Amino acid sequence: MIAGPCSAETEDQLVATAHLLKATGRVTALRAGIWKPRTRPGEFEGIGSIGLEWLKRAKAETGLPTAVEVATAKHVEEALAAGVDILWVGARSTANPFTVQEIADALKGVDIPVMVKNPVNPDISLWIGALERINNAGITKLAAIHRGFSSYEKSAFRNEPMWDIAIHMKTLAPHLPLICDPSHISGNRDLIGYVSQKALDLDMQGLMIESHIDPSVALDRCQTTSYPSCFG
Ligand code: PEP
Ligand code: MN
Repeated sequence: MIAGPCSAETEDQLVATAHLLKATGRVTALRAGIWKPRTRPGEFEGIGSIGLEWLKRAKAETGLPTAVEVATAKHVEEALAAGVDILWVGARSTANPFTVQEIADALKGVDIPVMVKNPVNPDISLWIGALERINNAGITKLAAIHRGFSSYEKSAFRNEPMWDIAIHMKTLAPHLPLICDPSHISGNRDLIGYVSQKALDLDMQGLMIESHIDPSVALDRCQTTSYPSCFG
């Protein structure tokens, strides 16, 4: 069970969240995004490298290993230097082989667990290709994260689970741990239980669930509503 805020916002928010998660006795690692890929500029793009210091403190106080998303070689270098325990590649990065290769090159000679989220689009080859690029760099502790897929279909989910793709991944790579991310599939709190149970019923190995001490004020949502003037 990997849990923690979508984004590290303040030192207090992250450390307090870590303590509450630790107190549940059910969380094995603390996640926090510090470099956030946003669809539009002007949204909260993450607290940046200072968040690594907050993660160090959260780990020192709770003993929870830490996990962050990396999207560039610089992110990898900084996260490794700060002693982050687990890295993950986000959905937007997995969709771009140039980005994945840059991350893989930065990981050469390093022994750290890396989790790869499915790409935004429902293309299992991109997902497998990203895992292969990281594996070819010498990383052997790999996991795949199923976070759902972008779709034009109107549905209750923010990202369509398309469970058959996750099952296909399990069939192709039966020994690769598959972790479900119900938060990005659901996009709201109400569906987290249902999606988590479904993932466990499908025999997935773990869950990554976003958690916040006060979710209603989390800096995760789209805060840009109007089109910029350059659009005319
Ligand atoms: C996240 O984990 O907060 C995130 C940005 O996820 P994804 O890459 O699945 O959109
Ligand atoms: Mn998120």
